Amino acid sequence: MKYTIGIDLGATNIKSALINLNGKILKKNEMPTEAEKGAKKVIENIISSIEKVKSGKINGIGIGSPGPLDCKKGVILNPVNLPFRNVPLKKILQKKFQIKVFFDNDTNCFALGEAIFGQGKKYENVLGITLGTGIGAGLVINKKIYHGRNNAAELGHATIKYDGIKSNCGNNGCIEEYISARGIKALFNNKNIEPYSIYNLAKKGNKKAIMAFKKMGYYLGIALANTIYAFDPDIIIIGGKISNSWEFFSESMERTVKEKYFAKPCKIVKSKLKDAGILGAGALIQNEDSAH
Ligand SMILES: [Zn+2]
Repeated sequence: MKYTIGIDLGATNIKSALINLNGKILKKNEMPTEAEKGAKKVIENIISSIEKVKSGKINGIGIGSPGPLDCKKGVILNPVNLPFRNVPLKKILQKKFQIKVFFDNDTNCFALGEAIFGQGKKYENVLGITLGTGIGAGLVINKKIYHGRNNAAELGHATIKYDGIKSNCGNNGCIEEYISARGIKALFNNKNIEPYSIYNLAKKGNKKAIMAFKKMGYYLGIALANTIYAFDPDIIIIGGKISNSWEFFSESMERTVKEKYFAKPCKIVKSKLKDAGILGAGALIQNEDSAH
């Protein structure tokens, strides 16, 4: 039996797993990224996390990392929450482990995991979206990640309001400013409360909290309608921490998509696959000749 190692490199934690070809996780490790200690320490942690799950014959290592990246060269350019500036992570790990290393952004890995092992299994065109600190999206066509030139499906920075809130990318009114964690805080009118607490308030019937998620669902619905106009996928699968508030935003999201889209929209579902990102990273090895 051959195995791959899938890694989900996050700003807070590094998650690694030994995965068989059917997408079954046999061994898992989670450790702090320690981003505040600098690039060298983070790379050491990635290596030790791999060593903790590595056993038997490994086909390759796949890494899902926050962008922006140069996927072809395997270089992490300058992510907001990691201390990396043009770090050739692929090369470093290939040299260390003498094995093929594959590399893609975290949401592309999430989408690939869903397309191969999750609710996208029986579909040709799968769009994965993650709602969290930022907004990520990944398009998988016939089980291959679609990259465009390099940054396809970067929906978080598509404009939803041309004179809207200033985004950290320098533009105004990026979708991310309305539906990410800080978007929900802004819609709730309180920047000092976490989305999880707003969710708990909504559960207790707090009208302001319920309204914040309703509005967020409205903005998300507009974003999804635009996305369906561009890609018309068979299914959209929504993951990331904020997706756990599904019960409070999905109704206004679905209603808005139906309002804005001129035909019957595709299926939109909440992710149910645990570790989709890690599984997708491990599956990058099958994605080798992907549509770069
Ligand atoms: Zn932006």
